[in-house]
Amino acid sequence: MWLQMFFLCLSCLTLSSQSQAQDRASLRRSNDATGRCHYTFTVASPEESSCSRSSMTPEMDGVLSRLTLLEALVSQLIAGVDGGTGTGVGANGEEGLQEAYSQVTGERNQLQQDKERLNRQVQELQRRLDELSQEAESLRQKPCQQTHISGGTQRENRPASDPAYEFGNGSYQEMKAEVTEVPASRLIPEGNQNSTGCGELQSVADPVLHRKADSITGKYGVWLQDPEPQGPNYTNKTVWRIDTVGEDVRQLFAYEDMDQFSRGFPMKVLVLPEPVESTGATMYRGSLYYQRKRSRTLIRYDLASESLASRLDLPHAGFHGQHPYSWGGYTDIDLVADEQGLWAIYSTSKAKGAIVISQLDPESLEVRKSWETNIRKNTVANAFMVCGRLYTVASYTAPNTTINYMFDTVTGVGRAVAVPFKNKYRYNSMVDYNHAQRKLYAWDNFHMVTYDIRLGRASHGSN
Ligand code: CA
Repeated sequence: MWLQMFFLCLSCLTLSSQSQAQDRASLRRSNDATGRCHYTFTVASPEESSCSRSSMTPEMDGVLSRLTLLEALVSQLIAGVDGGTGTGVGANGEEGLQEAYSQVTGERNQLQQDKERLNRQVQELQRRLDELSQEAESLRQKPCQQTHISGGTQRENRPASDPAYEFGNGSYQEMKAEVTEVPASRLIPEGNQNSTGCGELQSVADPVLHRKADSITGKYGVWLQDPEPQGPNYTNKTVWRIDTVGEDVRQLFAYEDMDQFSRGFPMKVLVLPEPVESTGATMYRGSLYYQRKRSRTLIRYDLASESLASRLDLPHAGFHGQHPYSWGGYTDIDLVADEQGLWAIYSTSKAKGAIVISQLDPESLEVRKSWETNIRKNTVANAFMVCGRLYTVASYTAPNTTINYMFDTVTGVGRAVAVPFKNKYRYNSMVDYNHAQRKLYAWDNFHMVTYDIRLGRASHGSN
């Protein structure tokens, strides 16, 4: 009812100020009592001088009915005058005329009063409208201020789909989780970070860029240094690189040292006897270990003799897209080395996609021992071993992700962890650990990077 009245009066207002507003349309935005935003679009009708009767109020109906009555009386009078023409206007006719005149005057006065009353109501409504407009304006500005503040400190009201919320809050949660996960006793003092002792992974520093590939074949690949080099030709300074984009990957580039690797051309290019599958190769004790293309065959390529030294199938291992990391890229079999030897990270149909870790004989490639974890290989981006413990990286694209799971081969127990890890270039296709350098080596979207890591002193199994 009041809403109807409001709109009626709004239309009256529009009519009363027709000269100014006839050609103007206006859009008003205001909140209702429940705080819901309403848009009101107002425009004067180019054809109608007033609104149709259906939207009018009972008061206006009363005025109109009286007007109709007046019209009827006037019609009667005119009819009476016309009817009396033939007989002349008598005293009765004059009295009737006067009576009708009084009635018309009374009606006119009444209408005048109604008009004044309605004008007052219009003014009152106009005043209330102004007030409401001001209030709506102030309400409209208040949420904007809150949004500004929430960008910095308050995140509770942000929707979960807001990327800023996910990234910002996510990294905060990860850091918080790390603080929860790491007891004070596990932390080693500052300045003692290069301790040679084994321990659990405590933190991973920001990536350091060493080289950016300059062609499409370098979008992903493998690059490493041998933590335990053998023979006179290559040292622990030698840098090795395989670009693994392509159908027949056989080239192994050797760089004299990190400086040559960063600046220029390789000192040597070795051609491998069998093509390489994916980014799971590793370098250990003078040999390159890799998975032969489209097979579960492991190959040991001896760098000194530049020849194939061993080849053996990894029993039951999935290959060529059966059990890759979440990145894909046929990353089914990942060969890695750490302080405790050579390992294969893969899965089998028996393990139903869960990560299987096998320790390999570095000479013969035979499996010495295997462990089945309870984390699915295709849910993680990559994995590496440090001190006999497997670590998995949660995402290969998220700039701020975590190392989210650890499996200890000594205890045979795995558990969730949350060590922050950065994919600075958003497409990390390879992560491996070099225990001599105590760094992670990674290939992140054309960028060859290393990460310093910090290990704790905890012994196996002491949680
Ligand atoms: Ca790896």
